[in-house]
Amino acid sequence: MAKKQFKAESKRLLDLMVNSIYTHHEIFLREIVSNASDACDKLCYKALTDESVGLGRKDFKIEIRADKDARLLTVSDNGVGMDKEDLERNLGVIASSGSFQFKQEVGDDAKDTDVIGQFGVGFYSAFMVADHITVVTKKYGCDTAYMWQSSGADGYTVTECEKDAVGTDIIMHIRPDTDDEKYSEFLEGWRIQELVRKYSDYIRFPIRMEVSKTRKKEDSPDDKPEYETYSEVETLNSMVPIWQRQKSKVKKEEYDKFYRDKFSDYADPQRVIAVSAEGTVTYKALLFIPSQQPFNYYSKDFEAGLQLYSNGVLIMDKCADLLPEHFRFVRGVVDSPDLSLNISRELLQHDRQLKVIASNLDKKIRADLAKMMKDEPEDYAKFWKNFGRQLKYGVVADFGTHKADLQDLLLFYSSTEKKPVSLADYLSRMKEGQESIYYAAGETVESIDRLPQLEGLKDAGTEILYFTEDVDEFTAQTLMTYQEKKFLSALSGDAAPAEDGEKKQEESGEDDHKAVFDFVKEALGDQVKEVKASKILKSHPVCLTAGAGLSFEMEKYFAAVQPEQALKADRILELNTAHPVFAALERAVTDDPEKAKKYATLLFDQGLLIAGLPLEDPSGYTDLVCELLV
Ligand code: ADP
Ligand code: MG
Repeated sequence: MAKKQFKAESKRLLDLMVNSIYTHHEIFLREIVSNASDACDKLCYKALTDESVGLGRKDFKIEIRADKDARLLTVSDNGVGMDKEDLERNLGVIASSGSFQFKQEVGDDAKDTDVIGQFGVGFYSAFMVADHITVVTKKYGCDTAYMWQSSGADGYTVTECEKDAVGTDIIMHIRPDTDDEKYSEFLEGWRIQELVRKYSDYIRFPIRMEVSKTRKKEDSPDDKPEYETYSEVETLNSMVPIWQRQKSKVKKEEYDKFYRDKFSDYADPQRVIAVSAEGTVTYKALLFIPSQQPFNYYSKDFEAGLQLYSNGVLIMDKCADLLPEHFRFVRGVVDSPDLSLNISRELLQHDRQLKVIASNLDKKIRADLAKMMKDEPEDYAKFWKNFGRQLKYGVVADFGTHKADLQDLLLFYSSTEKKPVSLADYLSRMKEGQESIYYAAGETVESIDRLPQLEGLKDAGTEILYFTEDVDEFTAQTLMTYQEKKFLSALSGDAAPAEDGEKKQEESGEDDHKAVFDFVKEALGDQVKEVKASKILKSHPVCLTAGAGLSFEMEKYFAAVQPEQALKADRILELNTAHPVFAALERAVTDDPEKAKKYATLLFDQGLLIAGLPLEDPSGYTDLVCELLV
């Protein structure tokens, strides 16, 4: 009997596959089972219009049998089957567009072969685990059955054979074990069950297999029990995925359990978002916001992404493209019949559809978070604790591309409310004439609270947002404004209290004390950019503010992350002209310039201390304090 050759491209693909360039051999079962399911679907569809089929939806099934001694794994279905032409057309060549794409993707570089794992390669993947495959099949409406046989790249034969019922048996002769790969595993019941649950749990026809079990022998005494093994046919898959069910018909406990099992979390999710979309792209999605931060969340080990299914068949475990970076904490599944299992349908198309889904999901998640913020502020505060930082990163990322989408989801600690508040809330409480959103950055809420620079604003009852995370100031700088109100650092000299700013300026009498400021500037040299009368201090004598560019908190951040080329913020020394210390300084400038220089150094060092910046010469500072004490 003459062997027929596979088409050239198919041969190349087979070579690639058989030579084990792709290590996820296990996906072969998913491919074979989904073909069986497709075949059942086709005949089931026919039965709708053709009474002579004589089968209803409930009559279709897929059966798996493993014969360890003969090393045969068989997957049978009672679907539509194939005739001789079908076999030639379907199993003699790999769908051409797909193999072309495949070649392009894979090239000669084995590293890129994840594509296979991501989108599957259909029937041929069985050659990864089998050295010989026999297909016995009978097409609905045909009298003759056919047998297709192949040992891989060297070709295939098709012959007539006997088969009673319509349908297809795929009989795989499993390869002998090697040092690297224990192919025998694929003949083990537990392994087959595991694979069906992992990849084919939501196939809508029962996948049945004889499972061996143990039970106590009926007549054995209870105190000396004897056991026997027996076998029972079991349905391995759960068939209807929870995300295909109507949300109103699913109990919260069911969602919670599904989440815990699927994503190995011991805590219930904080939010469940069920999406059902029809239109340009049809899909169902079930998304979860975890109620706690995964322990490795901010590390490289954390893998983001949603599980991607096509009609209940798993295509990809962590599809990162489905989630924007700022929602990478979201877990869940997406199922779209528009996505094909096989790479034989254009990859490009996948991309476009994935993009539509991803952007819809982004919107849904945002809407859900906004709703939680409004309706369940306490829950939102908890969510914010877990993942708020990620949202702020989202504002800063990509040059602020997503800032408009995310700004209303942000919370910052408020000096007056004593808890995290939204920017909209802040605005609603702004005072008449207040032009800016005031913030102050520092280590902790407590340390910021003690900053003398904030005294003026606080006395005036102005609300200040406390920035305690590295990313906060970057977030404000990226936003620049919120509802046209500018962000302004309360630690900068510009941040005078709204209502009495002008008055203060007059009082502070810049000109009166010019000689003192010039003297101090001269004494401190390049250490300070400017010395001036403070508009923000009340009871404290001195503070440092940063210029328009970098803030002190950012300087500290950069010092920690890139110490070799640390960036420095401008230092502006602000003196409280109403404070007795200033009067003492002024006197010294005229009476005892040497002493005045020491005062200048001392005040500057105090400014550094208050700002949490390191002193150039700590022991010099303490010496000076001691010297002035005696
Ligand atoms: P795809 O499923 O994406 O079309 P496959 O390589 O998995 O690609 O299968 C190729 C074709 O072989 C299928 O489209 C189908 O026509 C046929 N086929 C495979 N398995 C079966 C089966 N069990 N019953 C009927 N037809 C099958
Ligand atoms: Mg297929």
